[in-house]
Amino acid sequence: MTKAIIFSLIILVTGFAGIAQDKNGRDQNSKKDDKTADNYKNKPSVIDVTDNIFMLKGMGGNIAVQDGIDGILMVDTQFENVSDFIENIIKNKTDKEVEFIINTHLHGDHIGGNKNFSRKGATVIAHENVRNTLRNNIRNKSKEKIQTRIEAQIEEAEKAGNASGKVEQMKEGLEKRIENLTNETEQDIDFEALPAISFENDLLFHYNDEDTRLIHLARAHTNSDIVVYFPKSNVLHTGDAFVSKMYPYLDTKNGGSYDGYLNGLKRIVQLCNKDTKIIPGHGELASVIDVQETIRMLELYYSKLKIAFLQDKTEDQVASMRDFTQFYDAKGYGDGFITTEKFLRALYNEVERIEGPYKRRNEAKQKKYEADQKKKGN
Ligand SMILES: [Zn+2]
Repeated sequence: MTKAIIFSLIILVTGFAGIAQDKNGRDQNSKKDDKTADNYKNKPSVIDVTDNIFMLKGMGGNIAVQDGIDGILMVDTQFENVSDFIENIIKNKTDKEVEFIINTHLHGDHIGGNKNFSRKGATVIAHENVRNTLRNNIRNKSKEKIQTRIEAQIEEAEKAGNASGKVEQMKEGLEKRIENLTNETEQDIDFEALPAISFENDLLFHYNDEDTRLIHLARAHTNSDIVVYFPKSNVLHTGDAFVSKMYPYLDTKNGGSYDGYLNGLKRIVQLCNKDTKIIPGHGELASVIDVQETIRMLELYYSKLKIAFLQDKTEDQVASMRDFTQFYDAKGYGDGFITTEKFLRALYNEVERIEGPYKRRNEAKQKKYEADQKKKGN
């Protein structure tokens, strides 16, 4: 895609989404924000990856910033209340504005700052499931809010012993309103927080003299993951489809899965050579060796839990198993957001989902065999 096409696409998509530029600036700082800011200041946050790409650590997921002839491209935006700090760090490095933002997936610690940057003119690009899920979440929340409000009104009318048929009328009205909620909740959607450009599979992005590849990994950490590969710079931002030296989060509620995660890691390995610099979703700058290590860990744990599952061990029993986790626990894999126990529980559920049907089929076969043998014996 040429730059001209990119820009016409933006006009088209933003026009459709109805994005309005708000010049009022961003949300007010609260005490909570100050605390976050302190945390931010206390961390060493900028790591030069190449001459024109740097990595930003801090609150939330790792950010990649590409500074080139066209402008600034940023991968992920961390939380909403640290945008000022991110902006200042970028300003210390370059006088250019953030023109494009790519989101690696839908989690708040990676996309929280979208709104702040898009208000200042940046265009957000993400997998279509980022946009769809966020939109649905806002819609559902809004729907709940309206429903609660109307239900409270009915309760009040009932309490007051309204005899004029008003309660019945309100109930009818409520049902009708719920039917029409799709239109009503649409008004609550803050389009500035949503990606303006979304895509289904892969996207080539020609910017800053680099043919950047945005590659979708299906059902990995979530159902919205992409990795961002800068081939000329040989840098890869993986989002949470790979986290360095920690147990991964299989967010099955948002469409993530064990097999998808594993396939994703294998795809990442295919994309890399030994010199590729990998910016993980969380953790330190990594290399393909670290990804291969995670694959080994996942396959080992899966095989151990599969045996336990086939031996009728329960989730609780598996959650306290530490005989095979010691090696990675000692390296700090379970020290973060996903503890060893959390990871074992999540993985057990995936083992159950994947191996359960085979197990049940084999058990049925065994039962039938035993019954047949009994019959023959008689
Ligand atoms: Zn995530």
